[in-house]
Amino acid sequence: MGKEQVDRLLASLVESKGEMVSEFETKEVIRNWGLSATECMLADSVDEAMQFGKNLGYPIVLKVHSPAITHKSDIGGVKLNLKDPGEVKTAYEEIKKVCESIDPNFRVLVQPMAKPGIEVILGVSRDPQFGPAVMFGLGGVFVELFEDVSFRLIPLSGNDAIEMITSIRAFPLLKGYRGKEAVDIEMLSNMIVLLSNLVVQYPFISEIDLNPVIVYSKGATIVDARMKLT
Ligand code: ADP
Ligand code: MG
Repeated sequence: MGKEQVDRLLASLVESKGEMVSEFETKEVIRNWGLSATECMLADSVDEAMQFGKNLGYPIVLKVHSPAITHKSDIGGVKLNLKDPGEVKTAYEEIKKVCESIDPNFRVLVQPMAKPGIEVILGVSRDPQFGPAVMFGLGGVFVELFEDVSFRLIPLSGNDAIEMITSIRAFPLLKGYRGKEAVDIEMLSNMIVLLSNLVVQYPFISEIDLNPVIVYSKGATIVDARMKLT
């Protein structure tokens, strides 16, 4: 675990440059960088998926793992909250049905179902003029419909990260709304700084998307991630 591991992982991924790095591999990298992401296992059969469910503890999530499929849920490749081996079997068959024709070598990613919380998005992209910037926003309609996001150029400080979080219009939702508890703003700002540092350290990471990160009153978990290398 740590920087050496990240060096090694990224070195093994540079061949894939230009292509999207899978959720499985991206999470391996960011976990070793100190970011908290769900544990993941890759299954090649229903039996293996069930075994992993037992190891990880139910409920679990199944997702298609294939270089041909980047937006997994768009095609029915994400099955959430599977509570027992029977549900895993059904979900696996459903994924197989839609994905086999797209990629006969598809695999299935198994991970624990994260508890409900507030979904946010963290990302890094590169502007040809200004260079790399981090983006932060709330998940779902907030980004898609309202474009309620904040940006900061990299590198950035803890204060910059806090400013990014507090400057979105939907910030009151994070601060505790109608009696709800506030989310862990400190953890979120730590994550933003870690993400910024990762890209400073490895400038060949051209894009990274943590979408979504589920945030709680204490802690946060990355449930989906992908990146691109140049
Ligand atoms: P996509 O490739 O379509 O973006 P995601 O992995 O983001 O697929 O899954 C779609 C949605 O399912 C996420 O936005 C999130 O709401 C939910 N989700 C995914 N993984 C988990 C998980 N491990 N625990 C809880 N919810 C999850
Ligand atoms: Mg996603």
